[in-house]
Amino acid sequence: MSSTHPSLSTLSQATWLFRKHQIRRIDAVILTHGHQDAIAGLGKSLAYDLRAFTAPPSPQAGAVIPIYLSRATLDAVAQQFPYLVDKNQATGGGDVPSLNFRVFDDPLVDGEGVGGESMADGFDVHGIWVVPLAVHHGKYFTPPDQVERLDVPEKQTQTAPQTPPQVLQSSSNEIPGKNAIQPSLTSLLHRKIEETVKETVPFYCYGFVFDGKMIYLSDVSYIPTGTWEKMVSAIQPGTSGSSSPPTNDTISPSKLPFSASLPPSSRSLPCLILDCLRLEPHGSHLSFIQSLSICLHLSPRETYLVGFTHPNSHNEWVAGCREVEGTRAEGEEDGFLAAVEKSAVRQGKEMMSVWERAKSEWKGFVRPAYDGQVVRIE
Ligand SMILES: [Zn+2]
Repeated sequence: MSSTHPSLSTLSQATWLFRKHQIRRIDAVILTHGHQDAIAGLGKSLAYDLRAFTAPPSPQAGAVIPIYLSRATLDAVAQQFPYLVDKNQATGGGDVPSLNFRVFDDPLVDGEGVGGESMADGFDVHGIWVVPLAVHHGKYFTPPDQVERLDVPEKQTQTAPQTPPQVLQSSSNEIPGKNAIQPSLTSLLHRKIEETVKETVPFYCYGFVFDGKMIYLSDVSYIPTGTWEKMVSAIQPGTSGSSSPPTNDTISPSKLPFSASLPPSSRSLPCLILDCLRLEPHGSHLSFIQSLSICLHLSPRETYLVGFTHPNSHNEWVAGCREVEGTRAEGEEDGFLAAVEKSAVRQGKEMMSVWERAKSEWKGFVRPAYDGQVVRIE
């Protein structure tokens, strides 16, 4: 699996990590979603620079690197790197990489009745059973079917009276409000977008369950109920990801990143790799306490948090995690712990209770992940 970091090219990561761990080839790539930090390495780095690490060419044409991805991610790849998806789009010398895109669908996202092999319940990658999990990763600010209309400003049909230049400083003898700043075209357009987006359209990212032993959720803001049920049923001893017909939720104002009516999982999960952006909530990622709420409900043996922003150091996150476990040394990153407590209060009663229960009842093993980390799962 490749999750590229925008500031370090896939090639740099490969020359460092692949050598360190004596990795000589990539068997497959699994993509989570179509954002830049998830697919940008595909065009230049993976398709060309990493040739030396790819599996020897197969006798079947185009079977060099299988790339597993959702339909929406394939669309994003096609937009950015047309020649990767359609050889007719090749330019220059006409050389194009041989990639084998394998699309998994999800009835929750793509609707029922998608044609062909859907792979929604899972797929086999070199003997590892992978179950895709559609999760919310923020929302569309413009519904996809209205992008075109909103992006093109409407033609002005009448000549608007010239408005005087905006004056930002008002002098004391002027009537209040006279020089109030007029709404700009941009703010009018934004208001129009907000009026048009009557209901939230989630942007979907994919997480995965690997062999029922490891759950990978790198970019998530909410786990819909259908996905949660599919995820839990895919944890060992079960390997199938099928569940009752998937349902989507109307997200309540609660800050819990899943429905409060879901029972805690009683299955044994060796490893969870989970999104955690920062202390405070965010539109498309999880806050620390939101991540902990998922830990409490899934009770994994080990959890590694990924995707932090810069303001807090690795050591601070380690201390926050040790506090949960009950192993934080006296005085270790006290300032950060005070910030965690404050943040819990700001996030409301429900999340405050998550923080308290994480420390008093759960006390599980959770740590920030780091570059080059290797996790072994028996
Ligand atoms: Zn993203």
